[in-house]
Amino acid sequence: MRITKEEPTTKAVLDDVICNRCGKSCKAGGNDLNNIYFAKCVARGGFGSPCLVDGYEYTFEVCEGCFIDIAKAFKHPPTVRDLGLFGESDSPPEITWEETIREDKTDGE
Ligand SMILES: [Zn+2]
Repeated sequence: MRITKEEPTTKAVLDDVICNRCGKSCKAGGNDLNNIYFAKCVARGGFGSPCLVDGYEYTFEVCEGCFIDIAKAFKHPPTVRDLGLFGESDSPPEITWEETIREDKTDGE
């Protein structure tokens, strides 16, 4: 027979994200989780990859300002889709990268 008791548990909660590129906080203010704005980028080395290690996963997070700066340097702009307010669209329409840029929010260097 097992006797159990309730114990308080501690749970890690995301408090901030530090931009890998500029080193700044991605927290826009306040204590609400929704006030942390960043982009998570993931790359995986494929078999025979000339630059990345096969089977390794590379991850970094950047603030939105750095994300914009990095993407602006691309020869071909990123693909952007409007997922709707809650990301529930089944067939999200593609929109142009230029339509999505808001110059007044850049924090990147
Ligand atoms: Zn940054």
